[in-house]
Amino acid sequence: MGLGVRSPRKIHRKQTKMVAEGQQPRKRKPQPRQKHIPQRTCIACRQVRPKRELIRVVRTPDGHILLDPTSKKSGRGAYVCARRSCWDIALKKGKLEREFETTLTAEDRAALEAYYASLPPEQPGAEGAGSRP
Ligand SMILES: [Zn+2]
Repeated sequence: MGLGVRSPRKIHRKQTKMVAEGQQPRKRKPQPRQKHIPQRTCIACRQVRPKRELIRVVRTPDGHILLDPTSKKSGRGAYVCARRSCWDIALKKGKLEREFETTLTAEDRAALEAYYASLPPEQPGAEGAGSRP
């Protein structure tokens, strides 16, 4: 007795892996392998975006806060998405002033608000897909 004991060694490595259903494959976005795109953080929503998608705002050495669409002005810069919701936060909630540790003059504020008004209304769900349906 005891002769016919076969050790269960012959495991073929053929097991197909069970893929849990309902799980999305991780590979959603192929990572863009572009070469060095400067990135900046929006001061309102804190999202990091390519610099060119953001609007630069600058505090000039004499204390004004201005839009700097060409990024050529000198001074301390901050970036805000070209989106109403971000300008809402940046302008109306005082984020910009806090960022620059200064107070907007009425004139500067008017200029920024004019820019804000020129932004197209946002389409819900067009960007930044969240968990909302
Ligand atoms: Zn933003």
